[in-house]
Amino acid sequence: MRDTDSNRTHPAAATAAAHDPIVLQRPEHDISRKRISSAAVRVLYGLREAGYQAHLVGGAVRDLLLGGDPKDYDVATDAHPEQIRKVFRTCRLIGRRFVIAHVRFGNEIIEVTTFRGGGELGVDDDHPDREVEAEGLILRDNVFGTLEEDARRRDFTVNALYYSIDDFAVRDYVGGLADLEKRQLRLIGDPEQRYREDPVRMLRAARLAAKLGFSLAPSTEEPIGRLANLLDGIPPARLFDDLQKLFLYGHAEKSYEQLLRLRLFEHLFPHVSINSDSGEPYAGALIRAALRSTDARVIEGKPITPAFLFAAFLWEPFQMACADIDVHAEGALADAAEAVFRETIERIALPKRFSIITREIWELQPRLATNSPSRARRLMRHPRFRAAFDFLLLRAAVDPHLTEQARRWEVAQHCHENEFDALFRAAPAGPAMAAMPTTDAAAPARKRRRRRRRSGGEAPVE
Ligand code: ATP
Ligand code: MG
Repeated sequence: MRDTDSNRTHPAAATAAAHDPIVLQRPEHDISRKRISSAAVRVLYGLREAGYQAHLVGGAVRDLLLGGDPKDYDVATDAHPEQIRKVFRTCRLIGRRFVIAHVRFGNEIIEVTTFRGGGELGVDDDHPDREVEAEGLILRDNVFGTLEEDARRRDFTVNALYYSIDDFAVRDYVGGLADLEKRQLRLIGDPEQRYREDPVRMLRAARLAAKLGFSLAPSTEEPIGRLANLLDGIPPARLFDDLQKLFLYGHAEKSYEQLLRLRLFEHLFPHVSINSDSGEPYAGALIRAALRSTDARVIEGKPITPAFLFAAFLWEPFQMACADIDVHAEGALADAAEAVFRETIERIALPKRFSIITREIWELQPRLATNSPSRARRLMRHPRFRAAFDFLLLRAAVDPHLTEQARRWEVAQHCHENEFDALFRAAPAGPAMAAMPTTDAAAPARKRRRRRRRSGGEAPVE
């Protein structure tokens, strides 16, 4: 990719008038159709053959220009949603903030959107189809526009590059090619206004900086500190979606670092006592260990689940909730977990199917301290044993008191049957719920005293 060369071959670009894009002709970039998913190519040609414009846009063009492999493909067209539907049998129209067409080929879904327009940067009172709240937040947005208008409505310049199936050229209306060279994320238009329109763009900045290893342009970074609290007004379902994109694609630890650096993490998890000022307390170390292990699993192609990550994110609030209850009472841990989830879903819509698993992982933690071989055997048959054991490994990684327990379970899963009993009988009676060293120091002592009186040295198994 050589935008200076392109300026030479396209004199118009060098002195680009406001509305002339910089054009990288086919020989000047190395996006070939072979590198694009066949489903996306079929969508592009389908639209073209029906007489419409068809461009690949967004992260796919960005990633292809960077030599990477796009995670998904977005197509922009001048065809209206109903027209897109007529072109593809397998098309479904999805109404979110604006109508998007999903075209399915096999198990791949290509997102097709009609060029959006309606004013420079999204705030335009002349359009009855657009509603803008006093703060600048776009509420409803379904105004069609030109390719250039579409480009200016996107978030970062590097996300607003268009690859046309007509001439295989890449078009840049907003300086995205230059930013790609600089490896920087720069919001199109006035950053503060763009964040106010859609505060999730702050999370996207953190995520893409992490994923691409890009920096944020100073003008793009600067308002985040002032505007981070706007995230508090984002619907919890959308935050859960964006959290998955932050943490389930192999760059979770880097995403976390960006969220800390930009002071966004505390708006996602206000009940976790980690912040970027105070070094890294235990809660942060556990979260980091969980994210690192998730990244490693993604690279190895192993399955991952938000349930496990939330077990780490919310472990500290869960410990706090356990501090004031009798952890041996029937259902006490479940109640504590539910209290934590109730608090969480006000901010992040963690679906029940995940929170149930998170709770099970937590409930198994004190049971892993058992010194009873028969209970240990039963535990190993528990459907959530593996996840609970993995979680114990994380806890042990940040709390040396648990090293021995973690090692015992490691051995237990591979040792000979007649070594198993001795392994557990030799185990010391651990605390019911090893609380975090840095949180509520009084609570663990209280719990330990209670446990010693009970004797037996472990939490009840059933
Ligand atoms: P990824 O590689 O992770 O998919 P992406 O940039 O493609 O990154 P998507 O969520 O797939 O992210 O979005 C596709 C494109 O839609 C973006 O590249 C951008 O052009 C546009 N877009 C997405 N979200 C926003 C937003 N909140 N505001 C403006 N434009 C957006
Ligand atoms: Mg994408």
